[in-house]
Amino acid sequence: MRVEMVSVGNELLDGRVTDGNATSLARVLGAYGVPLSRVTVVPDRIDAIGAAIASAADAGAELCVLSGGLGPTEDDLTAEALAAACGVSMAPSDEVDARVRARLAHLGIPPGPGHDRMIRRPLGADVLDNPNGTAPGIGIRRGGMQLFSFPGPKHEFRALAEAAVGAWIGDRAAVQEVRSLSVFGLVEAQIMKRLEGALPDVEVGYRATLPEVHLSFRAATAEGPASAAEIARERLGDVVYRDGIGGLPEVAARLLAERDRTLSVIDGGLGGLLGVDLIEHLEDPGRVTARFDAALADPEAVALDGLALAIGPLSPGRPSEARVVLQDGAVRHAARVRLPLDPSSNRRVVGHVALDMLRRHLTGREVVAEWFGMRLG
Ligand code: ATP
Ligand code: MG
Repeated sequence: MRVEMVSVGNELLDGRVTDGNATSLARVLGAYGVPLSRVTVVPDRIDAIGAAIASAADAGAELCVLSGGLGPTEDDLTAEALAAACGVSMAPSDEVDARVRARLAHLGIPPGPGHDRMIRRPLGADVLDNPNGTAPGIGIRRGGMQLFSFPGPKHEFRALAEAAVGAWIGDRAAVQEVRSLSVFGLVEAQIMKRLEGALPDVEVGYRATLPEVHLSFRAATAEGPASAAEIARERLGDVVYRDGIGGLPEVAARLLAERDRTLSVIDGGLGGLLGVDLIEHLEDPGRVTARFDAALADPEAVALDGLALAIGPLSPGRPSEARVVLQDGAVRHAARVRLPLDPSSNRRVVGHVALDMLRRHLTGREVVAEWFGMRLG
């Protein structure tokens, strides 16, 4: 199935705004395994919008989604371009008029000077509910191609894309089964090597958000993704920190809560971020106490009580390695982490090593292990 998008707006072409709506639409389609075939970015001009719509039709698109240009200002020309492209005239729509007035009344704003322009719509077009904004969306056909046009503001666009495009594609394509795993401790190439030859007929997606790697598995058969995830879990071992996609801080916080533990963090280099990352995912923030100590010279010399992490030093003077100590009563583990990256990436890696030591300890795994192919300890 061929699906195209036309993103309308001068602001997308002069660097003021990035085309996040294309990403939103791609996500809605992605759940059905349908990629966008093309995104065309055009300025606020009727001829440019019309040419992009015609080009999508010529290329055989069954669906073309437009973003932006439905508002009341003079540079909002998408409705007019749609009417011209579909060979219908423009007329004021009572339905759009009523919806816009109701929304404005709710906001306590009187209709503005652009109101009469904004309620003009291509004759015969569908009016699509916009729960997050004023201008409703438009649905209209042009020969064999369905067109949808949604307002540019991202929360308005996303809601309309999920509802209208979701319903349209749901009638034509099946939800594609996808399984995913989240990994910390190997880079993509190392993961690929471990999975070599194990997953024929499975499409493996790699998304690295340093220092985590999120894997997704798609397959032609219904049971394919689940068995792929199982095989991958076996091959990768305990670097897999969760089923599905999510961050390590959330997993570590959940383990603390499930095991009813409290943690103290003495942080000599992460700027308190490790504590914040954990507390964000805890119902009871009192489970974590965090103390930032930029002067911490030797985490291995700090006296620790109960369950505790000591981390550092990372600054100043850019040392070449940081140390992480995890203690739980009489049990103590220490790891040394090399710092080969830029300062903020190094901090993320060290923070994740600390969280991973915590995860491993709380789940009874080997605590000081290998990260990124390097043995720590
Ligand atoms: P409005 O009624 O707010 O004018 P509109 O449908 O006319 O809505 P535009 O005027 O084209 O939309 O854009 C409004 C704002 O939406 C832009 O200033 C921009 O911040 C955001 N926006 C527009 N297009 C995109 C896009 N493709 N991706 C992300 N944001 C966008
Ligand atoms: Mg506008």
